[in-house]
Amino acid sequence: MHLCYIAYVTNQTPSPVLRFAPSPNGYLHLGHAYSALLNAQVARELDGCLLLRIEDIDITRCRPGYETALREDLAWLGLEWEEPVRRQSEHFDDYTKALGRLRALDLLYRSYASRKEIAAAVASRDWPRDPDGAPLYPREALRAIDDPAIHAEDEPFSLRLDMGKALALVPPLSWQELQPDLTGIEAVPAELARWGDVILARKEFPSSYHLAVVCDDALQGVSHVVRGHDMFQATAVHRLLQQLFGLPQPVYRHHALVLGEEGEKLSKSLASKSLRALRAEGMTPADVRKLVGM
Ligand code: GLU
Repeated sequence: MHLCYIAYVTNQTPSPVLRFAPSPNGYLHLGHAYSALLNAQVARELDGCLLLRIEDIDITRCRPGYETALREDLAWLGLEWEEPVRRQSEHFDDYTKALGRLRALDLLYRSYASRKEIAAAVASRDWPRDPDGAPLYPREALRAIDDPAIHAEDEPFSLRLDMGKALALVPPLSWQELQPDLTGIEAVPAELARWGDVILARKEFPSSYHLAVVCDDALQGVSHVVRGHDMFQATAVHRLLQQLFGLPQPVYRHHALVLGEEGEKLSKSLASKSLRALRAEGMTPADVRKLVGM
Protein backbone atom coordinates (compact mmCIF):
# COMPACT_ATOMS: atom_id res chain seq x y z
CA MET A 1 0.00 0.00 0.00
CA HIS A 2 1.17 3.53 -0.72
CA LEU A 3 2.91 5.30 2.14
CA CYS A 4 0.91 8.45 1.52
CA TYR A 5 -2.31 6.44 1.36
CA ILE A 6 -1.55 4.89 4.72
CA ALA A 7 -0.89 8.37 6.09
CA TYR A 8 -4.18 9.53 4.61
CA VAL A 9 -6.38 6.78 6.01
CA THR A 10 -4.72 6.83 9.40
CA ASN A 11 -4.84 10.60 9.49
CA GLN A 12 -1.18 10.78 10.44
CA THR A 13 -0.32 13.74 8.35
CA PRO A 14 -2.23 16.12 6.15
CA SER A 15 0.52 15.70 3.55
CA PRO A 16 -0.68 16.63 0.05
CA VAL A 17 -1.17 13.78 -2.42
CA LEU A 18 -0.87 14.40 -6.15
CA ARG A 19 -1.26 12.05 -9.06
CA PHE A 20 -0.32 11.83 -12.68
CA ALA A 21 -2.91 9.68 -14.41
CA PRO A 22 -2.15 8.80 -18.03
CA SER A 23 -4.07 6.35 -20.20
CA PRO A 24 -1.90 3.68 -21.84
CA ASN A 25 -3.49 4.06 -25.26
CA GLY A 26 -0.48 5.54 -27.04
CA TYR A 27 2.98 6.95 -26.36
CA LEU A 28 3.41 9.98 -24.11
CA HIS A 29 4.14 13.31 -25.78
CA LEU A 30 5.46 16.68 -24.60
CA GLY A 31 2.07 17.61 -23.11
CA HIS A 32 2.24 14.60 -20.81
CA ALA A 33 5.83 15.42 -19.92
CA TYR A 34 4.79 18.92 -18.86
CA SER A 35 1.85 17.69 -16.81
CA ALA A 36 3.89 14.98 -15.08
CA LEU A 37 6.79 17.36 -14.33
CA LEU A 38 4.40 20.00 -13.02
CA ASN A 39 2.73 17.46 -10.73
CA ALA A 40 6.14 16.45 -9.39
CA GLN A 41 7.11 20.09 -8.89
CA VAL A 42 3.89 20.94 -7.03
CA ALA A 43 4.28 17.80 -4.89
CA ARG A 44 7.82 18.91 -4.02
CA GLU A 45 6.82 22.50 -3.28
CA LEU A 46 3.95 21.40 -1.03
CA ASP A 47 6.04 18.69 0.58
CA GLY A 48 3.58 16.09 -0.65
CA CYS A 49 3.86 12.89 -2.62
CA LEU A 50 3.21 11.88 -6.19
CA LEU A 51 1.28 8.84 -7.36
CA LEU A 52 1.14 7.39 -10.84
CA ARG A 53 -2.27 5.99 -11.80
CA ILE A 54 -2.88 3.97 -14.92
CA GLU A 55 -6.24 4.99 -16.39
CA ASP A 56 -6.93 1.92 -18.49
CA ILE A 57 -10.67 1.38 -18.10
CA ASP A 58 -11.05 1.55 -21.87
CA ILE A 59 -9.94 -2.03 -22.35
CA THR A 60 -10.70 -1.73 -26.07
CA ARG A 61 -7.94 0.90 -26.58
CA CYS A 62 -5.38 0.46 -23.80
CA ARG A 63 -2.38 -1.88 -24.20
CA PRO A 64 0.05 -3.21 -21.55
CA GLY A 65 2.94 -2.30 -23.89
CA TYR A 66 1.99 1.37 -23.65
CA GLU A 67 2.02 1.15 -19.87
CA THR A 68 5.56 -0.28 -19.92
CA ALA A 69 6.55 2.48 -22.33
CA LEU A 70 5.07 5.29 -20.26
CA ARG A 71 6.80 4.07 -17.12
CA GLU A 72 10.08 4.05 -19.01
CA ASP A 73 9.47 7.54 -20.39
CA LEU A 74 8.57 8.99 -16.99
CA ALA A 75 11.58 7.35 -15.33
CA TRP A 76 13.79 8.72 -18.16
CA LEU A 77 12.46 12.19 -17.32
CA GLY A 78 13.64 11.61 -13.77
CA LEU A 79 10.23 11.18 -12.16
CA GLU A 80 9.63 8.96 -9.16
CA TRP A 81 6.37 7.72 -7.77
CA GLU A 82 5.16 5.35 -5.09
CA GLU A 83 4.51 1.68 -5.88
CA PRO A 84 2.25 -0.18 -6.29
CA VAL A 85 0.56 1.80 -8.98
CA ARG A 86 -3.23 1.71 -9.17
CA ARG A 87 -4.42 0.28 -12.47
CA GLN A 88 -8.09 1.11 -13.04
CA SER A 89 -8.85 -2.06 -14.99
CA GLU A 90 -8.18 -4.02 -11.78
CA HIS A 91 -10.82 -2.11 -9.83
CA PHE A 92 -14.04 -2.39 -11.80
CA ASP A 93 -15.70 -3.64 -8.57
CA ASP A 94 -15.16 -0.23 -6.97
CA TYR A 95 -16.87 1.51 -9.87
CA THR A 96 -19.74 -0.99 -9.92
CA LYS A 97 -20.27 -0.37 -6.21
CA ALA A 98 -20.38 3.38 -6.84
CA LEU A 99 -22.92 2.87 -9.61
CA GLY A 100 -25.02 0.90 -7.14
CA ARG A 101 -25.21 3.94 -4.89
CA LEU A 102 -26.45 6.10 -7.74
CA ARG A 103 -28.91 3.41 -8.75
CA ALA A 104 -30.27 3.38 -5.18
CA LEU A 105 -30.91 7.11 -5.58
CA ASP A 106 -32.71 6.35 -8.86
CA LEU A 107 -30.25 8.53 -10.78
CA LEU A 108 -29.26 6.07 -13.51
CA TYR A 109 -31.05 4.87 -16.62
CA ARG A 110 -30.22 2.58 -19.51
CA SER A 111 -29.27 4.11 -22.82
CA TYR A 112 -29.04 1.92 -25.90
CA ALA A 113 -28.48 4.43 -28.68
CA SER A 114 -25.06 4.38 -30.31
CA ARG A 115 -23.07 7.53 -31.04
CA LYS A 116 -23.95 7.09 -34.69
CA GLU A 117 -27.70 6.88 -33.97
CA ILE A 118 -27.55 9.97 -31.78
CA ALA A 119 -25.55 11.87 -34.40
CA ALA A 120 -28.10 10.90 -37.06
CA ALA A 121 -31.05 11.91 -34.87
CA VAL A 122 -29.69 15.42 -34.31
CA ALA A 123 -28.01 15.90 -37.71
CA SER A 124 -30.66 18.06 -39.32
CA ARG A 125 -31.13 20.23 -36.24
CA ASP A 126 -29.11 22.95 -34.61
CA TRP A 127 -28.40 20.77 -31.57
CA PRO A 128 -26.41 22.01 -28.54
CA ARG A 129 -23.13 20.25 -27.77
CA ASP A 130 -21.66 19.25 -24.42
CA PRO A 131 -18.16 20.47 -23.46
CA ASP A 132 -16.67 17.33 -25.05
CA GLY A 133 -18.30 18.27 -28.35
CA ALA A 134 -20.86 15.44 -28.25
CA PRO A 135 -24.54 16.22 -28.88
CA LEU A 136 -26.12 17.24 -25.59
CA TYR A 137 -28.16 14.33 -24.31
CA PRO A 138 -31.32 15.16 -22.44
CA ARG A 139 -33.42 12.04 -21.96
CA GLU A 140 -36.78 13.32 -23.09
CA ALA A 141 -35.53 14.95 -26.28
CA LEU A 142 -33.98 11.71 -27.53
CA ARG A 143 -36.53 9.25 -26.22
CA ALA A 144 -37.74 8.37 -29.72
CA ILE A 145 -34.41 6.70 -30.57
CA ASP A 146 -33.52 5.50 -27.08
CA ASP A 147 -36.69 4.22 -25.47
CA PRO A 148 -35.85 1.02 -23.50
CA ALA A 149 -39.21 -0.33 -24.70
CA ILE A 150 -37.86 -0.61 -28.25
CA HIS A 151 -34.71 -2.48 -27.25
CA ALA A 152 -34.26 -6.12 -26.28
CA GLU A 153 -33.30 -6.87 -22.65
CA ASP A 154 -29.99 -8.40 -23.70
CA GLU A 155 -28.90 -5.58 -26.01
CA PRO A 156 -25.78 -3.84 -24.68
CA PHE A 157 -26.54 -0.54 -22.96
CA SER A 158 -24.69 2.26 -21.26
CA LEU A 159 -25.81 3.92 -18.03
CA ARG A 160 -26.52 7.63 -18.02
CA LEU A 161 -26.87 9.97 -15.09
CA ASP A 162 -30.25 11.67 -14.93
CA MET A 163 -28.76 15.16 -14.61
CA GLY A 164 -32.08 16.89 -13.84
CA LYS A 165 -32.79 14.55 -10.93
CA ALA A 166 -29.21 14.71 -9.68
CA LEU A 167 -29.18 18.51 -9.69
CA ALA A 168 -32.39 18.55 -7.67
CA LEU A 169 -30.54 16.68 -4.89
CA VAL A 170 -27.57 19.03 -4.50
CA PRO A 171 -26.99 22.73 -3.76
CA PRO A 172 -25.33 24.88 -6.45
CA LEU A 173 -21.79 23.51 -6.66
CA SER A 174 -18.38 24.98 -7.27
CA TRP A 175 -14.84 23.65 -7.09
CA GLN A 176 -11.67 25.19 -5.75
CA GLU A 177 -9.15 26.17 -8.40
CA LEU A 178 -5.62 26.68 -7.18
CA GLN A 179 -3.83 29.66 -8.71
CA PRO A 180 -0.38 29.17 -10.29
CA ASP A 181 1.36 30.64 -7.22
CA LEU A 182 -0.17 27.69 -5.26
CA THR A 183 -1.59 29.95 -2.57
CA GLY A 184 -4.58 31.75 -4.08
CA ILE A 185 -7.78 29.76 -4.53
CA GLU A 186 -10.73 30.71 -6.68
CA ALA A 187 -14.20 29.13 -6.48
CA VAL A 188 -15.35 28.09 -9.96
CA PRO A 189 -19.08 27.47 -10.41
CA ALA A 190 -19.82 23.98 -11.80
CA GLU A 191 -21.85 24.49 -14.97
CA LEU A 192 -23.60 21.16 -14.99
CA ALA A 193 -26.54 21.91 -17.26
CA ARG A 194 -23.99 22.10 -20.09
CA TRP A 195 -23.25 18.39 -19.72
CA GLY A 196 -26.67 16.80 -20.08
CA ASP A 197 -27.12 13.16 -19.04
CA VAL A 198 -23.49 12.02 -19.04
CA ILE A 199 -22.58 8.36 -19.49
CA LEU A 200 -21.26 6.78 -16.28
CA ALA A 201 -20.90 3.19 -17.51
CA ARG A 202 -20.16 2.33 -21.10
CA LYS A 203 -21.46 -0.56 -23.15
CA GLU A 204 -18.00 -2.13 -23.40
CA PHE A 205 -16.89 -1.74 -19.77
CA PRO A 206 -18.65 -0.96 -16.49
CA SER A 207 -17.37 2.56 -15.81
CA SER A 208 -16.60 5.84 -17.49
CA TYR A 209 -13.67 8.21 -17.13
CA HIS A 210 -15.73 10.53 -14.89
CA LEU A 211 -16.80 7.80 -12.49
CA ALA A 212 -13.43 6.07 -12.22
CA VAL A 213 -11.48 9.28 -11.68
CA VAL A 214 -13.77 10.45 -8.87
CA CYS A 215 -13.69 7.08 -7.11
CA ASP A 216 -9.91 6.78 -7.45
CA ASP A 217 -9.05 10.30 -6.36
CA ALA A 218 -11.04 9.65 -3.17
CA LEU A 219 -9.75 6.10 -2.61
CA GLN A 220 -6.17 7.29 -3.03
CA GLY A 221 -6.59 10.34 -0.81
CA VAL A 222 -5.67 12.72 -3.64
CA SER A 223 -5.73 16.25 -2.29
CA HIS A 224 -4.47 18.20 -5.34
CA VAL A 225 -5.51 17.41 -8.90
CA VAL A 226 -3.10 19.05 -11.35
CA ARG A 227 -4.12 18.34 -14.93
CA GLY A 228 -4.55 19.93 -18.34
CA HIS A 229 -7.04 22.65 -19.12
CA ASP A 230 -8.85 20.24 -21.45
CA MET A 231 -10.29 18.68 -18.27
CA PHE A 232 -11.53 22.00 -16.86
CA GLN A 233 -15.22 21.52 -17.74
CA ALA A 234 -15.15 17.85 -16.74
CA THR A 235 -14.39 18.97 -13.20
CA ALA A 236 -18.01 20.13 -12.90
CA VAL A 237 -19.14 16.51 -13.36
CA HIS A 238 -16.50 15.29 -10.92
CA ARG A 239 -17.63 17.78 -8.32
CA LEU A 240 -21.24 16.62 -8.71
CA LEU A 241 -20.27 12.97 -8.27
CA GLN A 242 -18.21 13.82 -5.18
CA GLN A 243 -21.24 15.57 -3.72
CA LEU A 244 -23.60 12.68 -4.51
CA PHE A 245 -21.16 10.16 -2.99
CA GLY A 246 -20.31 12.36 0.00
CA LEU A 247 -16.59 12.36 -0.86
CA PRO A 248 -13.99 14.95 0.11
CA GLN A 249 -13.13 17.43 -2.65
CA PRO A 250 -9.57 17.89 -3.81
CA VAL A 251 -8.38 21.30 -4.98
CA TYR A 252 -7.75 21.58 -8.71
CA ARG A 253 -5.24 23.25 -10.90
CA HIS A 254 -5.87 23.12 -14.64
CA HIS A 255 -2.68 24.03 -16.44
CA ALA A 256 -2.23 25.42 -19.94
CA LEU A 257 -1.71 22.81 -22.64
CA VAL A 258 1.52 22.41 -24.54
CA LEU A 259 0.64 23.13 -28.16
CA GLY A 260 2.23 21.86 -31.36
CA GLU A 261 4.19 23.99 -33.79
CA GLU A 262 1.03 25.08 -35.57
CA GLY A 263 -0.73 25.87 -32.30
CA GLU A 264 -2.65 22.57 -32.42
CA LYS A 265 -3.51 20.46 -29.38
CA LEU A 266 -1.11 17.51 -29.04
CA SER A 267 -2.73 14.13 -29.21
CA LYS A 268 -1.67 10.51 -29.14
CA SER A 269 -4.10 9.70 -31.92
CA LEU A 270 -2.74 12.45 -34.17
CA ALA A 271 0.66 10.85 -33.65
CA SER A 272 2.13 13.99 -32.09
CA LYS A 273 5.80 13.38 -31.66
CA SER A 274 6.28 11.00 -28.75
CA LEU A 275 8.85 11.40 -25.99
CA ARG A 276 10.51 8.22 -27.16
CA ALA A 277 10.80 9.55 -30.69
CA LEU A 278 12.42 12.72 -29.33
CA ARG A 279 14.73 10.57 -27.21
CA ALA A 280 15.69 8.51 -30.28
CA GLU A 281 16.57 11.78 -32.02
CA GLY A 282 19.04 12.51 -29.23
CA MET A 283 17.01 14.81 -27.01
CA THR A 284 17.89 14.67 -23.31
CA PRO A 285 15.51 14.98 -20.33
CA ALA A 286 17.02 18.44 -19.76
CA ASP A 287 16.10 19.40 -23.35
CA VAL A 288 12.53 18.24 -22.77
CA ARG A 289 12.25 20.25 -19.56
CA LYS A 290 13.54 23.31 -21.34
CA LEU A 291 11.17 22.80 -24.23
CA VAL A 292 8.12 22.65 -21.96
CA GLY A 293 9.37 25.46 -19.73
CA MET A 294 10.01 23.40 -16.59
N1 GLU B 1 -6.40 9.89 -18.03
C1 GLU B 1 -6.53 11.24 -18.48
C2 GLU B 1 -5.62 11.47 -19.67
O1 GLU B 1 -4.75 10.65 -19.95
C3 GLU B 1 -6.16 12.25 -17.39
C4 GLU B 1 -7.26 12.39 -16.44
C5 GLU B 1 -7.05 13.26 -15.22
O2 GLU B 1 -5.93 13.72 -14.95
O3 GLU B 1 -8.02 13.43 -14.49
O4 GLU B 1 -5.79 12.46 -20.35
